[in-house]
Amino acid sequence: MAEKKCPSCSSQRFYVKDPQDEYEFYEFDVKGGEPVLSPETPETHWSNIGEDTETYCSRCAWHGKFKTLKTTG
Ligand SMILES: [Zn+2]
Repeated sequence: MAEKKCPSCSSQRFYVKDPQDEYEFYEFDVKGGEPVLSPETPETHWSNIGEDTETYCSRCAWHGKFKTLKTTG
């Protein structure tokens, strides 16, 4: 199965900013190429992550659109 990883450090942990509040962040793991948010994350935020969503790596300074994550496998 294809996996998505950070192009810089190969981490699979990322976060996105809440479009309603730039100081709010939602962390998630990418498994099987899909974002997997923690169960505490409100369901409304799941749909905020699309191919063009600005995505930030949790481990390094990389950020870019979700679709630009490195695909492996
Ligand atoms: Zn990274």
